[in-house]
Amino acid sequence: MLLTSADLESIQRHCSHHRPLVERSTHAGCLRCGATFKPAEILEWIPAPGAEGRETPEDTAKCPKCGVDSVLPSAAPVSLDERTLAALRRYWFKDVH
Ligand SMILES: [Zn+2]
Repeated sequence: MLLTSADLESIQRHCSHHRPLVERSTHAGCLRCGATFKPAEILEWIPAPGAEGRETPEDTAKCPKCGVDSVLPSAAPVSLDERTLAALRRYWFKDVH
């Protein structure tokens, strides 16, 4: 499946405010470092980005490998395979090496 930038934009919405989704996932993948791991390995949850100064739940996972809040749960309506993760990484982190 070839992902368009609209697909890549919409997939990224599953990377925040997603705690219930993560908790019913069998695994999750990180868009930043490409690691896959089990939801139980996630140690840190943060309020979603852009919520500074507001009372918001800590419902956004941080990657246990690289610490970036770009975790995609397997329960999201997206195939969480290596090619998808690589495409997402190129799209969202193209300036990171
Ligand atoms: Zn990571």
